[in-house]
Amino acid sequence: MGKITVENIDIELVRKRIKNIHLTVYPPDGRVRLAVPQHMDDEAARNFALSKLTWITKQRKKYTTQERQTIREFVTGESHYYSGKKYILRVIETIGKQHVELRDNKYIDLYLRPGSTVEKREKLLSEWYRRNLKEIIPSYIEKWEKIIGVRVNEFGVKQMKTRWGTCNIRDKRIWINLELAKKAPRCLEYIVVHEMVHFLEKHHNKVFKDYMSEFLPAWKSIQNELNGISLQK
Ligand SMILES: [Zn+2]
Repeated sequence: MGKITVENIDIELVRKRIKNIHLTVYPPDGRVRLAVPQHMDDEAARNFALSKLTWITKQRKKYTTQERQTIREFVTGESHYYSGKKYILRVIETIGKQHVELRDNKYIDLYLRPGSTVEKREKLLSEWYRRNLKEIIPSYIEKWEKIIGVRVNEFGVKQMKTRWGTCNIRDKRIWINLELAKKAPRCLEYIVVHEMVHFLEKHHNKVFKDYMSEFLPAWKSIQNELNGISLQK
């Protein structure tokens, strides 16, 4: 893997057996990757990147502003996402049961003991995210078991740093990233389908992609939504 620099932006350069050029900007830090056909030299790759500089800069800016928002203190007024929608957090002190409520399609209300710590507030919200996912995922599994023709023995939700989902093909088990609770339902459904399709094909090869296109024609754009913004030329 090589590297080129365009206007002070470092770009990873990858040569692959592909016909088209793929330019991708990844969250959370705006890393840029350029995949080009094997015969293309550095100069041509640099010229291509240069011609897309406005686009690259715009995408990177989007991530750096998002990144600033990810340092969370779980205090009233902060914005947090649920199911692809932005909500305003409100911390409400209670001596009753500690819980989370969605209010007026606008607020996520955290009911907590007076003087709760950041960790406690974060944990309450995470547990709520987890419960919601655990409630929603079975309906997707049931729907897609019929369409794909595979069975899921068990599913789980866990916090993962680098992947949206993972699976154990032999045990027919899938794991879904807790972070998907914040994303639009189509993203969650895509990851469930993706992991289930692995029961038919282990690798991300053409067979796998053909299955995905058959079952979920829009999978590629959802993948981009989750993993970065891609430009194909
Ligand atoms: Zn996969």
